[in-house]
Amino acid sequence: MKLHEYQSKRLFARYGVPIPAGDTATTPAEARQVAERLGGPVVVKCQVLVGGRGKAGGIKLAANPTEAEQVAGQILGMDVKGIEVRTVLVDAAASIATEIYLGIVIDRAARRPVMMASAEGGVEIEEVARTNPEAIIKAHIDPILGLREFQTRNISLGIGLDRTHWPAFNKIAQGLADCFAACDASLAEINPLVITAEGQLLAVDGKMLIDDSALFRHPELAEMRDVGEETPAEAQARRFGLSYVDLDGEIGCMVNGAGLAMTTMDIVTLFGGSPANFLDIGGGAKSDKVAAALRIILADPKVKVVLFNIFGGITRCDQVAAGILEALEQVPSGVPMVARLVGTNAEEGRTMLAGADMITATTLAGAARKAVAAAHGGQDSGRER
Ligand code: GDP
Ligand code: MN
Repeated sequence: MKLHEYQSKRLFARYGVPIPAGDTATTPAEARQVAERLGGPVVVKCQVLVGGRGKAGGIKLAANPTEAEQVAGQILGMDVKGIEVRTVLVDAAASIATEIYLGIVIDRAARRPVMMASAEGGVEIEEVARTNPEAIIKAHIDPILGLREFQTRNISLGIGLDRTHWPAFNKIAQGLADCFAACDASLAEINPLVITAEGQLLAVDGKMLIDDSALFRHPELAEMRDVGEETPAEAQARRFGLSYVDLDGEIGCMVNGAGLAMTTMDIVTLFGGSPANFLDIGGGAKSDKVAAALRIILADPKVKVVLFNIFGGITRCDQVAAGILEALEQVPSGVPMVARLVGTNAEEGRTMLAGADMITATTLAGAARKAVAAAHGGQDSGRER
């Protein structure tokens, strides 16, 4: 789950990271009030869950409350990368001397978090990694010992930070690491961490991703979810406990198990197709869940064919078949469908689907080949029973 900038920064602040004074507003008048309270110049920033808001015109400086009201009027309601702005953050403007990048992600290969810093702040870290990788200084964080002080000193040295800033940087890096761990984050990023003209370190931007699987133990964080920015498909998927990721291709996939779903996508790609989504209905899915999954797939206009790849273990193929039939009754569809059901109650499942106009397959390769052929308008898919 992604958090907004203002949410991330408030969390950082709890762990001792200095952030600018500020507050959110949903109307231009409210933005003016916040600016009046702050006094002095402010920066008005759209709160949408995408990066590069500055370049997209969603961040503007204002010299006084009247200007703050004006620019808030421009930014609120604006379309930033396909998302309508409903909230802005009005922060006391910082006079920026230097921009630094500081972030933490999980390094899966190293099986621990890694802190990354670069003197090239304000720029996307992916861009720095591509053009100037040696500018990124890294420190792996021991899960037991946490971030050590020598590590933050190494980073300070590596990014060429003036010694006068080392204690403040150490405190911020420590705070970010503590916040990352305490919130079960998969990413925590300050970009830019600035040095102001007055020589203060300040987190001007903030971004956090919280591990969805850990949200059950963070009810306070779970409540921060901005449902207004979820697509209808994502909202439905979450409601029914489905793992769903929208992709660019034309073959809608419904699979049980994340590993099998990945394999299915690989095989589809191998045979020249491209998946429209990743969708794992999970183990033991009953018909209502299957029906919800199929409704999500069929609502996607990119989908030219649906591929069911179900391995019945705990999941029963007859339940899956019932779900498919239920969904087809609710949302009749002319999209061709390829079904491969094997395992528990596969025979019952296949019998139930026999009445529905469906291409069947017994092997994964066969199913993928038929799905690709159907997506590319292939007539002879060679029904295999
Ligand atoms: P992003 O574009 O979504 O990453 O949003 P940021 O919050 O990082 O802002 C983008 C850029 O706007 C920063 O890199 C800064 O250069 C600039 N910016 C943001 N806040 C301030 C501020 O308070 N004062 C000044 N002068 N520039 C700011
Ligand atoms: Mn930024």
